Amino acid sequence: MPLRDIATRIEEATARVGRDAGAVTLIAVSKVQPLDRLRRVLDEGHRIFGENRVQEAAGKWPDLRAATGASDPITLHLIGPLQTNKLGAALDLFDAIHTLDRDKLARKLAESVQHRGACPGLFVQVNTGAEAQKSGLLPEDLDAFVEACRTSYDLPLEGLMAIPPIDQDPDPHFAMLHEMAERNGLEGLSMGMSNDFEAAIARGATHVRIGSAIFGDRTSAKA
Ligand SMILES: *Cc1c(COP(=O)(O)O)cnc(C)c1O
Repeated sequence: MPLRDIATRIEEATARVGRDAGAVTLIAVSKVQPLDRLRRVLDEGHRIFGENRVQEAAGKWPDLRAATGASDPITLHLIGPLQTNKLGAALDLFDAIHTLDRDKLARKLAESVQHRGACPGLFVQVNTGAEAQKSGLLPEDLDAFVEACRTSYDLPLEGLMAIPPIDQDPDPHFAMLHEMAERNGLEGLSMGMSNDFEAAIARGATHVRIGSAIFGDRTSAKA
């Protein structure tokens, strides 16, 4: 689907619930996609992208950034799990990290941020469905973690992020994330993907992460 059609659907979903135009940031999730598809979306003027692997992103974005130029900068969001041994590479590349999910990562991040004097946008990932295989804090552990980020690590948090279970209605998960963000005084809500971003916007999403609806199927891209 052309990027402008997705942008229109975001605008309409935002207006339907009486939110301000521009309240929702579209992160175009380009993981696994071939370069020609990325260039097409760059040519359409989009500049905000999401990747889930540090190494994969490091292999393509420095060149694309150089080609685009500094006057119209590309913003990159890390939306996949972050191992502490990749933290330096991640901070070299990404403007925001959506997957802050454990104490050790917060501690290492705080050390690096001190050294560098700059902090990426930070979202805490919550495992709203308490799924065994999924990363993110359990809902009951969130408030203490947010408090530790603020008081022990002095890390500014932008918001919360969640990926609802694939086999469930996402709406209760979006509502839960909204409630948890409000309770913790956080503005940002990273939620909603190709199949459910309108429902996420209705629940207050500020960042939607949309891949296949923009770029096409990832399985065909792998071939
Ligand atoms: C891949 C991915 C997306 C995009 O998924 P689509 O269904 O292709 O829109 C969004 N968020 C995360 C965390 C992802 O890994």
